[in-house]
Amino acid sequence: MPAYCGRCGEPVDGSSAEGPHEDCARLLQLEPPRYCASCARRMKVQVSPMGWSATCVEHGTVGARARDQGSTTAP
Ligand SMILES: [Zn+2]
Ligand SMILES: [Zn+2]
Repeated sequence: MPAYCGRCGEPVDGSSAEGPHEDCARLLQLEPPRYCASCARRMKVQVSPMGWSATCVEHGTVGARARDQGSTTAP
């Protein structure tokens, strides 16, 4: 469970399924996060035709390939 919203960098209340970040979550399906979910630092985002990657200086890189979106399990 991420501690911070990747879209706006605000803390996420994990106890509620719905919240102010519902729209953020939807947008994060379409575009990379701007903030680290673990520490809310601004991340360095790189977008490529294959997807995107976002790098936190503290927590490393997270990324997604376009074809992977919508799937949470690896083959
Ligand atoms: Zn948010
Ligand atoms: Zn981080």
